Amino acid sequence: MKAQVLKAYNEPYVFTDVPLPKITSPYDLLIKVEAASYCHTDTVCATGGFDGHANAPTQWPHIGCHEFAGTVADIHKPLAGSDSSVAPFQIGTRVGVPGRAFHPCGTCYECQRETPDYGQPSDSKGYSVYCPKAKNLGLSIPGGFAEYAVVDARQVAPLPAEMSAVDAAPLMCAGLTIYAALKNCQLQRGDRVAILGCGGGLGHLGIQFAEKMGLKVVGIDTSGPAVALSQRLATNSLIVNATKTTADDVVQIMGNEDGIVEQGRMGVDAAIILPESQAAFDYGMRLLKNWGTCVVVSFPTSGFVFSTQDIVFRHISITGSLVGSNAILREMLAFADEHGVKCVSQLFALSNLNDLVTRHHQGVEGKLIIDLSLATS
Ligand SMILES: [Zn+2]
Ligand SMILES: [Zn+2]
Repeated sequence: MKAQVLKAYNEPYVFTDVPLPKITSPYDLLIKVEAASYCHTDTVCATGGFDGHANAPTQWPHIGCHEFAGTVADIHKPLAGSDSSVAPFQIGTRVGVPGRAFHPCGTCYECQRETPDYGQPSDSKGYSVYCPKAKNLGLSIPGGFAEYAVVDARQVAPLPAEMSAVDAAPLMCAGLTIYAALKNCQLQRGDRVAILGCGGGLGHLGIQFAEKMGLKVVGIDTSGPAVALSQRLATNSLIVNATKTTADDVVQIMGNEDGIVEQGRMGVDAAIILPESQAAFDYGMRLLKNWGTCVVVSFPTSGFVFSTQDIVFRHISITGSLVGSNAILREMLAFADEHGVKCVSQLFALSNLNDLVTRHHQGVEGKLIIDLSLATS
């Protein structure tokens, strides 16, 4: 089969023939990949950012991509027809595939716990996206920048009938991550959420999800195109260019809207931090009401510095959010299908992955996606 492979860190992808991957476990499905979306984490992986960690490639050449969609092409025979907690996948079933968690151990604390996360549904016992021994598609093991990939049936979700592979692929990491982060804010309809980095891959999906959840959205970004994209997608959100308006001014706008003048009561109930910059983190913390929640999604290598004044005197909680469980993945897909949440995207042929990467580094609106139906050029 054709694949885009990395032969070493910091080298371009090489478009080449590689052997068809093999099914090795009763949970394995062979997927014919139809769309594969590019994520910032692919850059981190390709430049050696995970070297020495569990997410580093374990075999070379390496095939990246941890958010893709396609059709089941082969299935491990014992799974067929057997009772399973996962949907009964058959050859021809259309599925979306997130990167986590391929072959979890099934026995560790994470795999055995059944406690829902923040009131969210948890997956069945024996499967956890937090399993420290699980592999991750496109990072530690081969992913979706290829014509075929082997995936874990417990990892994937069937696609809604009307959803194309190109629309589904970017929801598998970007969509799932921001949807789970919004759920982790634990807000009620009518509450306010700030999305820092609202014009990026996750952010522009976040505006759509949050509005459809009935939340009041304050979108923050710093570049003209990102702000413009957010304004185009938002129907009733406040979109702010942080280079032109201070956090204190935004808090005042919200106070005026709500008829509240007391410091600490004006602002957002939760803020989601998507950029890796300290300035974005600080801006988000400034927007929060007392007792608010800061949900951190980005993970800059140097971390974030927080103010003890904020957490002690204002009782701000800081929490993190990774992707989401398989149960949340299915909920997110149904929600996106029902409400028409869609990624703004640009499509490339599999043979043109390096062009896609160049475009990514130039800064783009929305997401860049490999569409396997496009002819090799
Ligand atoms: Zn990702
Ligand atoms: Zn485990």
